[in-house]
Amino acid sequence: MRADVVLAGGGLANSLIALRLRTLRPEVELLLLERDDRLGGRHTWSFHHDDLSEEEHAWVAPLVARSWLRHEVRFPSFSRQLERGYHSITSESLRVVVQEALGERVRQGVEVATLAADEAVLRDGTRVGAGAVIDGRGDPGRGHLELGFQKFLGQTVTLEREHGLAGPILMDATVAQTDGFRFVYTLPFGGRELLIEDTRYSDTPGLEKDALRREIEGYVRAHGWRIHGMLGEEEGSLPIVLSGDIESFWDATNPGVPRSGMRAALFHPTTGYSLPEAVRLADAIAGSADLRSPALYALTRSRSREAWRRGRFFRLLNRMLYRAAEPDRRYRVLEHFYRLPEPLIGRFYAGRPTWRDKIRVLSGRPPVPVGRALRAVLTPGPRPAAAVSDTGGRD
Ligand SMILES: Cc1cc2nc3c(=O)[nH]c(=O)nc-3n(C[C@H](O)[C@H](O)[C@H](O)COP(=O)(O)OP(=O)(O)OC[C@H]3O[C@@H](n4cnc5c(N)ncnc54)[C@H](O)[C@@H]3O)c2cc1C
Repeated sequence: MRADVVLAGGGLANSLIALRLRTLRPEVELLLLERDDRLGGRHTWSFHHDDLSEEEHAWVAPLVARSWLRHEVRFPSFSRQLERGYHSITSESLRVVVQEALGERVRQGVEVATLAADEAVLRDGTRVGAGAVIDGRGDPGRGHLELGFQKFLGQTVTLEREHGLAGPILMDATVAQTDGFRFVYTLPFGGRELLIEDTRYSDTPGLEKDALRREIEGYVRAHGWRIHGMLGEEEGSLPIVLSGDIESFWDATNPGVPRSGMRAALFHPTTGYSLPEAVRLADAIAGSADLRSPALYALTRSRSREAWRRGRFFRLLNRMLYRAAEPDRRYRVLEHFYRLPEPLIGRFYAGRPTWRDKIRVLSGRPPVPVGRALRAVLTPGPRPAAAVSDTGGRD
């Protein structure tokens, strides 16, 4: 078997690359290999309108299952409605579009056992030769990165009656603070349909699923809603990077193999969200004159390095959040942040804060003890054992 480009892993990042290549480079022979029997897993991928340019919105639009014009946040001391759009793609909406565009080029239930720059070897021993192999097999774990976690369990439910929400509640932090910064995230998909996620910015990745289900049940009851049916469940434990060494992260496995998505550490350091970076990577790959592994390896690694450089400010904030604030007081950092002007909040989530924004985020009466904040900010953290890189890829 052979293809020009083999995409290992049929998750968000490789699906977007596949779609973009089909549209812009239809002559390229693609093969998208997904281990599970469902392309795209069980996810709801959301993003702020400001995260993407209008051109990016235009090609992503067919994937979007639901959009809202505004959203709100709730904290113990105030609530706020933000007049900024929010969009969600579901696994289902992604799957439908990708399968229609790729047809036979998608193979589900196919596990890639080993990867090299010019070949993927499947679990059954089949060898697939390729001009390029792109590793998009998802989160590789914590190697060379010091992490906290944004972890959650979400349930999509139908209610007996209309919920009455006009838009998403992205953070309801009026709930009891346990296991770090805790909030409930609610997306109203239809008049009676909600996705409700109990979320924690925690030191540990593990999820106590039954306890989280009970918390969701309690939240529903507290709002006077009654569940009619359960449509699905999803869970995640997303990496929140405090410090690390991006060059060692890349050098650790599969030398010369291009990467995408979480495998390439292309995610927002403070939210663990990867969709905007994945959209931009798909455009960059589809625009590359050379689609062979050496060129795509250089492209994906340099984008990852550049994202790491841009992420320095966010990692500093993460250290404040995780190290300077007592776990049950972490919400105050976000409460402080959400009092700032809307455009600043938009640029923060889009990963493009200006220097002025950074100063505003860090100024004012600090929501954490000053001495601890300074120590957290100035101490990058446990040094990984690997060799020091001289490219500035480490903090
Ligand atoms: C439940 C959940 C909700 C999230 N919500 C958001 C959100 O709202 N917005 C946002 O921007 N980000 C969100 N994220 C974070 C991040 O964007 C996602 O994790 C995203 O799916 C990462 O994309 P990816 O392509 O790197 O990896 P994945 O989407 O995880 O894709 C990896 C794929 O590779 C497959 N695979 C693994 N090993 C093999 C193998 N050996 N052979 C073949 N296939 C293999 C997996 O089955 C999987 O389908 C969420 C994450 C989770 C878990």
